[in-house]
Amino acid sequence: MKLSQIQGQDKVIESLRAAIAAGRLHHAWLFVGPRGVGKRTTAFALAAAVNCDNGPMGGGLFAGAAPGATFAEACGSCPSCIKMASGNHPDLHIVAGDERAEEAGLAGHLLGGGESGDAEGGDDDAKGAGARRTIKVGKLRDLEYHLLRKSTEGRFKIAIIVDADQMNPHAANALLKTLEEPMGDTLIVLTSSAPSRLPATIPSRCRRVRFSALPEPLVARVLADAHGMTADRASLLAHVSDGSIGRALAIEKGEMTDWVIEAVARVAGVPGQDATDALELAEELGKGKDRADTVRRLLVLFDLLGVYYRDTAVGAWADGWSRVMAGAAAGDVLRNFEYLDEARRALDLHVGPQVTLESLFMKMRAAARTA
Ligand SMILES: [Zn+2]
Repeated sequence: MKLSQIQGQDKVIESLRAAIAAGRLHHAWLFVGPRGVGKRTTAFALAAAVNCDNGPMGGGLFAGAAPGATFAEACGSCPSCIKMASGNHPDLHIVAGDERAEEAGLAGHLLGGGESGDAEGGDDDAKGAGARRTIKVGKLRDLEYHLLRKSTEGRFKIAIIVDADQMNPHAANALLKTLEEPMGDTLIVLTSSAPSRLPATIPSRCRRVRFSALPEPLVARVLADAHGMTADRASLLAHVSDGSIGRALAIEKGEMTDWVIEAVARVAGVPGQDATDALELAEELGKGKDRADTVRRLLVLFDLLGVYYRDTAVGAWADGWSRVMAGAAAGDVLRNFEYLDEARRALDLHVGPQVTLESLFMKMRAAARTA
């Protein structure tokens, strides 16, 4: 990925390229903004640009940077770029929690840090579900070790710390020491969608770059072009993901199955249906061998319906919904919105999925008739 290929973040990319071209590259950067809008991709593109053999920093530091040059880009074909693209560049070090590393398929010099040997008493996240998200101190010590050595290829040693707010206090302290002793040939990029969780001492040593949510049409285009989705599905996902390609892909991969997309239109049609059909639909959607699995699908369905009712109440995204819903009768949208909440609570209280749906559907029908 080249900097010029990052979509929807023109201001950010322009400022990074200007910094490279002018040789004003700060040694530590903090990329903040919503999840899934290109922070990590940009960090990798920046790494490729500063180490490219043909880039402005190639052939000796800043040698090719003519004053006022605006071109700053990785060539994509030199040995350094090829190693960067494959994740095998010896001077590129990546720090991430185990879960995030898996999720994002992060490859390359992913620092391990020998976590099992860490005695980190008093760390709330040391056990349980949070443990795999947490970035522990071992990884930062590994990083320090690599950054203290000479760069293998003679240019920048680059560290990308993904979701830096997931560092536990020990890890954050270790990073702080590294940031306090900047070395001329290191570049550290932190990414975070929750920078307020970082100890203030860390952002104060970094140059902050703000990434914004992406416009819906852009997200839809990327989902359709690069991920092969149909136009309708792409625009629905772009709409419900709040301008985040990453979130849209996560929804697509984990939650927004064909089952949910088909079901949302049918449930939205319930206010106009007769009781027998509504009860049959409740039986069909509420059955399933595994209660937990059924409940999970229904909760995603309720979320999507909630967005539909919210939009309908204020007249938003009407064209999009009319394609997804194919003529469904919205009924009394405000009351339906409340009934969805009641249905969520019922599932929380272990009411059966079918009974929950029956109750929801009867209320939706009654509200439509009295509206
Ligand atoms: Zn190159």
